[in-house]
Amino acid sequence: MLNLSYGDLLPDVDEPIVVAYFTMEVGLSKNIPTYAGGLGVLAGDMIKTFADLKVPAVAVTLLNEKGYFRQKLDKNGTQTEEDEVWDREKYMKLLPNKVVVTLENRPVVVRAWQHDVVSPSDGIVPVYFLDTNVPANTTDDKKLTSHLYGGDQRYRIMQEAILGIGGLKMLKDIGYEEIENYHMNEGHASFLILELLNRTKNEEEKDYHKRYDFDKVKEKCVFTTHTPLAAGHDEFDLKMVKSVLGDDFFPLEEADAFSEHDKFSMTYLALNHSHYINGVAKRHKDVSRKLFPGYHIHAVTNAVHSVTWVSDPFRELYDEHIPNWSHDPFSLRYVFGIPGNEIWNTHMEAKKLLIDFVNKETKAKMDYDILTLGFARRMTGYKRPDLIFSDIQRLNKIADTQGKMQLIFAGKAHPNDYAGKAMIKHIFSLRQKLSKNINMVFLENYDMELSKRLVSGVDIWLNTPMRPYEASGTSGMKASHNGVVNFSVLDGWWLEGYIENVTGWSIGPRITEPEYECDNNCDIKDIYGKLEKEIIPMYYYDREKWIEMMKHTIAINASFFNTHRMVQQYVLDAYIG
Ligand SMILES: *Cc1c(COP(=O)(O)O)cnc(C)c1O
Repeated sequence: MLNLSYGDLLPDVDEPIVVAYFTMEVGLSKNIPTYAGGLGVLAGDMIKTFADLKVPAVAVTLLNEKGYFRQKLDKNGTQTEEDEVWDREKYMKLLPNKVVVTLENRPVVVRAWQHDVVSPSDGIVPVYFLDTNVPANTTDDKKLTSHLYGGDQRYRIMQEAILGIGGLKMLKDIGYEEIENYHMNEGHASFLILELLNRTKNEEEKDYHKRYDFDKVKEKCVFTTHTPLAAGHDEFDLKMVKSVLGDDFFPLEEADAFSEHDKFSMTYLALNHSHYINGVAKRHKDVSRKLFPGYHIHAVTNAVHSVTWVSDPFRELYDEHIPNWSHDPFSLRYVFGIPGNEIWNTHMEAKKLLIDFVNKETKAKMDYDILTLGFARRMTGYKRPDLIFSDIQRLNKIADTQGKMQLIFAGKAHPNDYAGKAMIKHIFSLRQKLSKNINMVFLENYDMELSKRLVSGVDIWLNTPMRPYEASGTSGMKASHNGVVNFSVLDGWWLEGYIENVTGWSIGPRITEPEYECDNNCDIKDIYGKLEKEIIPMYYYDREKWIEMMKHTIAINASFFNTHRMVQQYVLDAYIG
């Protein structure tokens, strides 16, 4: 198993580092709640795989000492947010190093906590959590690393300056001499480019184009964009950025190059100074090329860390039949050698763990033998969490005539996303309208632990985003690792992972035009039609065929959508390519 160590291993600062990975959030385990969702979990899975594959790497992130938030839901589904309380001393060690970032002309002191990710392969990746809660700082500055995605624009600019500029300074202070690539996980870390440019600055040189060594910086930068929504890209008021970073620091011409209508774009800063740019699925690459014409954008499809996301029952099964799977997840393709009844019994063990958990936490009285669908992700408009309830009478009739269903939901809404919060309440309110043959619960406080229970314990993983807004999605890949079949809209990774009736089922048309948006109706037809005619009958009356699909899901999807494949692609194409 992956060993999450305390942080007292001395980094080998003399070895060249192939990649320094910069990310606003990291999801390594439930116990270090410095993540909000997919972006952080991907970062965590990537870092674990750097360790597995012994890629010389370090990671830099913010401490986010109060986490994202802990979600409470009352009986009507009204969400309230509480600070996360966690025991960081247990997982990380405070370093003696201190660096200073100048914000609004005052010095802000930054320190770092080190946590080592140690793989069974003996590979180690140190993760540095930056922290401004030091006595020398003002009360406000102490809070700059408290909350992930909290605060206003100014707070965000300062946080991102701590991450990009403070992070670079910290690596230098710790003693890293040679870093070959700086990988920005989203635009949040782009300010590191300004710091790198400043390091190449020749004060004497009058010509802007010669004053900085743009080529040298570009050679070192790698940028992964994660959002297909123009509005989802970090953009700040240019004046505010200048007032925070200071004119001296800020290459003026850079400001003009990357801002339009007085908005400063973190994305354009990264796009212009990276030698390798990628989207997180093939479709997302196409969408990104349309959003940012003129840039050569590649695709590296996201993935998950197999050992992290395989449930205990399936781990035992794989250990027995595919002994090398955890070092070589590509070998999950040999799952066809495992007898079908063993696959089913293992799934039932995982399902029992989930159903027992649900019955302990709620009054739902769920049943092991009823077809169970799971839906858990951020609660927000484009994810359409309530799409399956579009026609309640039809849904009820399907359950009454074809077979019973259980539905398990979970997910947080961002504290300022009032529409997302309303969706949770709406789902809660629908419980009274459902037939007695549909049992539904909404579980509180979706996190990595709950995610693992859900993706391994349900029979079907449902995803119904509005195209083309699901850049990739990774929870469905976690489901695949546990033989759980996907039933999803053809967007993000599922366009690459689905084979109808073989690895799962699609919802709605396959559309090749990236900007195409189809209305809810084109998807609803498939949700109800396939549940009624294919999915429920197969689950209750053709178990053999169901188990065949589970095997195909593992063999075709888990063997590919794993971070071993993804990291090898990054290393070959982006870092040394
Ligand atoms: C895996 C994971 C996600 C990302 O899943 P999506 O399918 O991209 O929504 C989000 N949150 C948690 C807690 C996860 O474990």
